[in-house]
Amino acid sequence: MEFNKVVRGAKREMNNEESVYAILDAGFMCHVAFQHQGQAMIIPTAYGREGDNLYIHGSTKNFMLNQILDGQSICISVTHLDGIVLAKSLFHTSVNYRSTVLFGKAVLVEDEEERMDGLKSITENIVKGRWNEVEVGDENQLKATMIIKFTIDSASAKIRNEGPVGDDSILNEVWSGHIPLALKAAQPIQDKKFGVVLEMSKSVKNYYEKHK
Ligand SMILES: Cc1cc2nc3c(=O)[nH]c(=O)nc-3n(C[C@H](O)[C@H](O)[C@H](O)COP(=O)(O)OP(=O)(O)OC[C@H]3O[C@@H](n4cnc5c(N)ncnc54)[C@H](O)[C@@H]3O)c2cc1C
Repeated sequence: MEFNKVVRGAKREMNNEESVYAILDAGFMCHVAFQHQGQAMIIPTAYGREGDNLYIHGSTKNFMLNQILDGQSICISVTHLDGIVLAKSLFHTSVNYRSTVLFGKAVLVEDEEERMDGLKSITENIVKGRWNEVEVGDENQLKATMIIKFTIDSASAKIRNEGPVGDDSILNEVWSGHIPLALKAAQPIQDKKFGVVLEMSKSVKNYYEKHK
């Protein structure tokens, strides 16, 4: 993986594999940016990471997935919003975040074993342990599913994690500081249509305990 220099706010650049991987592994939703006939497009989707590869998936009829297979260089971004930074001035008002911007190309995964590995990677990245608890899908469902591998050619990571900076000479009584934000899981709600109350599966329980 190569690294792209952050120009504005360069002191927040965290260009190393560890930071890029940590940002990717802390989430499962990315935004995929691509070109279609000169039109910039961006689509949110789920991913799983294996080394420098991100697996994404969808229907074989999925527009975005089919477009990005034309050999174009695409851009994928993942951002975690960690807080709102409220300075005494609007000029220094900001946000805390961890974000990474990746460039690379996508290829269709055709090897059956790798297709399964890709699906498992996506599934496990969303709720760890779920892969062993659910039906993967029948032959037709798997046939209708496309797995794509995006390889990171170059990346950058940018992290802001502090209260307000600047405004040292503003001595008024306006409150300044920051509001930490976090994504939390609420109590899981069981699907009622089967008419039986089931104990939460281990993966769901673990997810809830970790993220509540
Ligand atoms: C958190 C998250 C995870 C997702 N994970 C997956 C996944 O793993 N696999 C998968 O196949 N899909 C996933 N989706 C749905 C995905 O965003 C697309 O809607 C879907 O893949 C269809 O893509 P397409 O290019 O075929 O869309 P099309 O229906 O062909 O798009 C036509 C137009 O509809 C609009 N559009 C498409 N998708 C969206 C959207 N999500 N929001 C608003 N407008 C939209 C755009 O203007 C687009 O140009 C996810 C969505 C979210 C929010």
